[in-house]
Amino acid sequence: MALAGEYRSFLHRSCVKAADASHHLKILKAIASYDTAVEAMKKSQFESWERARQVAASVKRDAVSRLPELLEQFEAKAVENGVEVVWAADAAEARAAVLDIARANGVRQAVKSKSMTTEEIELNEALESIGVKIWETDLGELIVQLAHERPYHIVTPAMHKSRAEIGELFHRTLGTPLTDNAEELTQAARVHLREAFCSAELGITGANFLIASLGAVVLTENEGNARLTTACPRIHVAVAGIEKILPRLEDLELFLPLLATSGTGQQLTCYNTIIRGPKRSGEPDGPEKMYVILLDNGRSSIYAEEKLRVSLTCIRCGACLNACPVYRLIGGHAYNTAYPGPIGSVITPHLRGFPGWQHMSSASSLCGACSEVCPVKIDLHRLLLENRWHAHRQRTSSIIWRLGFWAWAAVYPHRKCLQMLQPFFRLGSRLAGLAAPRDLRGRIPQVAGRSFSELWQDYERKRTNS
Ligand code: SF4
Repeated sequence: MALAGEYRSFLHRSCVKAADASHHLKILKAIASYDTAVEAMKKSQFESWERARQVAASVKRDAVSRLPELLEQFEAKAVENGVEVVWAADAAEARAAVLDIARANGVRQAVKSKSMTTEEIELNEALESIGVKIWETDLGELIVQLAHERPYHIVTPAMHKSRAEIGELFHRTLGTPLTDNAEELTQAARVHLREAFCSAELGITGANFLIASLGAVVLTENEGNARLTTACPRIHVAVAGIEKILPRLEDLELFLPLLATSGTGQQLTCYNTIIRGPKRSGEPDGPEKMYVILLDNGRSSIYAEEKLRVSLTCIRCGACLNACPVYRLIGGHAYNTAYPGPIGSVITPHLRGFPGWQHMSSASSLCGACSEVCPVKIDLHRLLLENRWHAHRQRTSSIIWRLGFWAWAAVYPHRKCLQMLQPFFRLGSRLAGLAAPRDLRGRIPQVAGRSFSELWQDYERKRTNS
């Protein structure tokens, strides 16, 4: 989609969601209970949350600084364990590798556990195009799949849906009796998915971490679906971004509780699985073949930029999304990418190209709430500024955008100029209100009739006269 098209759509979706009070209420309610759980867990589980963040940041930064060496170590160990490792330079290569595996093994049905990396490469659509039926097995992912939507959030994909909406969706798509009882809905999904696990030939997962010293894939989850996805089908494919690397098994001692605390406010997720390869002789279950696809897709260009490299230390906990006032207002779907919110706004222009996606770097008030909650201490708001600077240097922003900022920089430091131009700003905001699409009319903020300094002068005058 052209720059203007994606940017305009983003603005449109954002305005619509920002004005949707019921959406706002659902999100705030979900985030409020998340906040309570996370704050309690930080205090009860860690002697010093700040110290844990510092250690985690330094381990991940060290790992990313040694990325080429650790990836080679991972590959050598994984191959030793009987895993086939595939390097994919971009989304197309990663999709092609999975499709080749599916074709070569006569796969007709696949199950997949939650993985934003597979969302990034749009794997479901690719598999369906060659006739492979694919079922999402994480409950939230299943809900958005049945609703033909993208995940709303990187940790809680169906955060925007109420129980009543899910009940109605299951009734319509799975034929279950109409209910909004959480237990009955979960049971219905369980029955439906059991069948899918038993008949799938291919299980697809992401990877929360890759352990270089073992050549192992680590999965953390709460539903047991990722474990079934890797254990039942005869082939397991893990699609992992190259930044998921951790040097040693011992690092999990910190990273598993850290991710669980920041992700969902838990001490530890219910299921933590370390996979070191396919089934060995004499073992009763597990896949006959295992593949790990190491995805670059723009990560190398992030790695090449010294200031931005730190964004590769992200462990995808989702905390920055929950803390971001922009995300809270416009929600996850407005971004139209696999990675919404602050971290998405930092990496997406690099993964998908600045010309189409640089507007995401401006979807922030730069308040710094995201950086404050990040468990690996990524200075997200500074990286967003870095992206804006990058766009400016590369001249990938539109001429109107650049002219606008040039004019703003010329006028803003001069109060008198600003005051003189105020009637024009007012007229501009009125015209923008009139030119807005029908459903947004009346919602475009208008420039106030009088400036703050005029109001203040009035106030001062009245105060001295009284
Ligand atoms: S940037 Fe930090 S807070 Fe955001 S998802 Fe990544 S690790 Fe979590």
